[in-house]
Parts: sequence; C-alpha cells; structure tokens
Amino acid sequence: MAQLSDDCFAFSGPLLRLDDMERLIAERIIPVAETERVRLHGARGRVAAADVKAPLDLPPFDNSAVDGYAVRHADLAADADTKLAIAGRLMAGGRAGQALEGGQAIRIFTGAAMPKGADTVFMQEDVTVEDGHVVVPKGLKAGANRRLAGEDTRAGAVALAAGTVLEAQHVALLAALGVTDIEVRRRLTVAIFSTGDEVVEPGAPRSGAAIYDANRYLLGELLGRLGAVVTDLGILPDNPERLANALREAASGHDLIVTSGGVSTGEADYVRTAVERVGSLVFWRVAIKPGRPVALGVIRGTSGHSAAFVGLPGTPVAVCVTFVRVVKVLLRRLSGARPDRLVALPVRAAFAYRKKKDRREYVRVVLVRNPDGEIEAVKHPQDGAGILTSLTETDGLLEFPEDVTTIEPGARVGFLSYASLVG
Ligand code: AMP
Ligand code: MG
Repeated sequence: MAQLSDDCFAFSGPLLRLDDMERLIAERIIPVAETERVRLHGARGRVAAADVKAPLDLPPFDNSAVDGYAVRHADLAADADTKLAIAGRLMAGGRAGQALEGGQAIRIFTGAAMPKGADTVFMQEDVTVEDGHVVVPKGLKAGANRRLAGEDTRAGAVALAAGTVLEAQHVALLAALGVTDIEVRRRLTVAIFSTGDEVVEPGAPRSGAAIYDANRYLLGELLGRLGAVVTDLGILPDNPERLANALREAASGHDLIVTSGGVSTGEADYVRTAVERVGSLVFWRVAIKPGRPVALGVIRGTSGHSAAFVGLPGTPVAVCVTFVRVVKVLLRRLSGARPDRLVALPVRAAFAYRKKKDRREYVRVVLVRNPDGEIEAVKHPQDGAGILTSLTETDGLLEFPEDVTTIEPGARVGFLSYASLVG
C-alpha cells in the first residue's frame, strides 16, 4: 500500500497555487511500490514501472519505404536520366541475397530489405521501364526512400521511460520491438462514496426534496478511465459517526478514498468531524475556480494501513474540475506515473471575461470556426457549478492563468479538451 505520512498534505498558506500543489504532491507523495508483469494485451492504461530498453534496432534492417527501384546513387548521372539494368526483384520478407553491381537496379517493394550496395530507391511512379531496364530521372537525393536500421529507435536506447502511462501507441512500439510483456505498477484501489441526506440512488424512490446522485457516477467513470480499481460504497448520510466508520473500513483495502459533498462552509463539520476521528485532515484552498476548498487527509484503517483521503465539493461541475486538476495529479503521482503534460491549445475567446488575479479559472466552452477560419471559444450561457448540462453541451475548458485579470473578445486563450483532461 502507499506510504503516506500523517502530514503529507499539510499546507498552511491562505491559497495554494496549482503549480505549488503539483510540486507539493511530487515531493511528499510516494507512489505505490508493488509491480506486476502484464502481457501487452491489456497493458493500455498501466504505468511502466521501469525503463524499457529496445532489444533491437527499429527498423531492424535498412529497407525500402516505397514500391520502386533500388539503385546506387553513385551510378546516377547528375543532369540527365540514367538507364539501369533490372537485376532482380525483392519483396517484403524476401531475402536480400544478391548485391547490386554497377549500372544495375533492383525491383523492390515497401518493407523489403535493401540489397547490398543500394542506397536510394526511386518510386515506381517516377520511372519508365522498358525491356529489362529502368530509366530513372535526375535529381533524386542520395538515401531517398530508404529507411535506415535504427532510425526509429536504437538497440539499447530507452524506448519507453518509467512512469509512462501506456497508450495504444506505446503498446505498438513494444510489440514492434518483439517485447511480449512489461513490468507495470499495480493498479490503484480507490473507494468512492457520496454524502448528503438529500442524495438518492438513481432509480430509487425520490421525495420532493431529494436529488439523484450524479457525482458517484462521474467519479466512477473518471477513475475507471485512469486505470483505478474502484469500489463504490454508495451514499452516506450527513452523519459523522456513519461517515467515520465507513472511512475507517474503506481505508484498510484502498490507496485512496474520494468523497463528494459535505465540505462546504455550512456543512464542513460532517466530513471534518468524521475524518478527524479516524485520521488527519487539512483543507486546501486551491487557487482555482470552480472548485471550493478541497479536503485532504490521511485515514488510518482498521488494519493499521493508511489511505489518502480527498473530499470534493458537492456540485458536479466543481467535482469535475477539482477531479481533473487536483485528484488526477495526486492519482498519477500515487500510481507512479510521470505528471501529465497538459498543453492548452490556442483559440480565440468569443466573449469578454473578468477574473480575480492569482487564481486560475476554467470556463466551459464550445468551439466554433468563425468565417475567417479561426477557432473561437463560445462560453456556455450557464456557468453555475451545479449545471451538469454546461458540461455535456461543451467541448472543454478555457484555462485563464493566474496573472491575467481581463480577457477581451478576440484574445488568444488556452483551450483544454475534455478528452485531454480526463484521459
Ligand atoms: P454540499 O457540498 O454537500 O453542500 O453540496 C453542494 C451541492 O451539491 C448541493 O446542492 C448538493 O445537493 C449537491 N450535491 C451533493 N452531492 C451530490 C451528488 N452526489 N450528486 C449531485 N449533486 C450533489
Ligand atoms: Mg451535502
């Protein structure tokens, strides 16, 4: 299980900037140590536990990038066509037995090994063939249309760095290198529950004052996409006793417990009281909007093992934003993954906006192409933190940095798609 000190989340400043939060997590949170070996099938989403060195050059041999004719560049006339005798034929997978002699060309197909002596390949579309000869034009550069052994990756080089979250392309690279299985960190185990006397399970009878639980479904899906093994502990009432018991039990079998609701100012006591009974708690006032204070803690389980605790706000949009900007950073670190590289793409704001300095703000937007061909971000008309359709009807979030206070229409701003945030 993850090794957590009781004060790993301690932070006493008034506001925690996102980059300080990222540093704090990197410095204080120790990833789970256990690893396992998995086959390539099913490795997507797992975290590489160690560097993987290429066992061979990729490609393993020089080969042709096109269907055409392999030649020796030294045979070619500098300013006229050159006529060469066709001396053989090489298919992909065929053995490159014969060497090319002066004045010869070899018919070659994509992926076939370059014959000895040949260094350049003409595309078949660019040549004319007549009675056993090929006429090639002037001007092709030496080495054209040839793939060099090791140009993709060299034997012995790190093909995949420790901490990489494996995507389809990483699995493909390992397969191309002949690797069959890989050492990965074990999956994180995460327990989730919702809190609130007003929250009921979808499908259950609902009184006039009750709402259906959206957050557990949101969290379950987000966590699942990140490769966590999720235990759904349902909905708990606003009762510190019941909350404390549930937390203590969950702490034994899990690396992390994530809850929503019960941490707003008026209600803070439910979760605070419960967590303080079974562990330690701090409130991070992360300098982002939306996202009210996020409660973090360490909970001692019945078996003596400790789990990390994150108490998110109750409103679904705040849950979503704090998840992708706070919980995900913690999860990645705990899982042994390198921090995500989030690159906001430049688009034009189609609206004016004022924000507080020293706070990073996220605005839900739809992207549209304006008549000039530029991509514009249109703000969703409803920006309440409880408006779920403001998430379902938009493409992603604009990210306004801490030092900015005014955004004018037409300003270049950074866009993060939901796909980039939740993947
Ligand atoms: P709280 O942080 O508990 O004060 O909740 C803030 C708001 O979020 C309230 O309007 C709650 O009813 C709502 N809320 C809390 N939990 C959920 C949930 N699981 N699903 C949907 N809305 C919720
Ligand atoms: Mg509540």
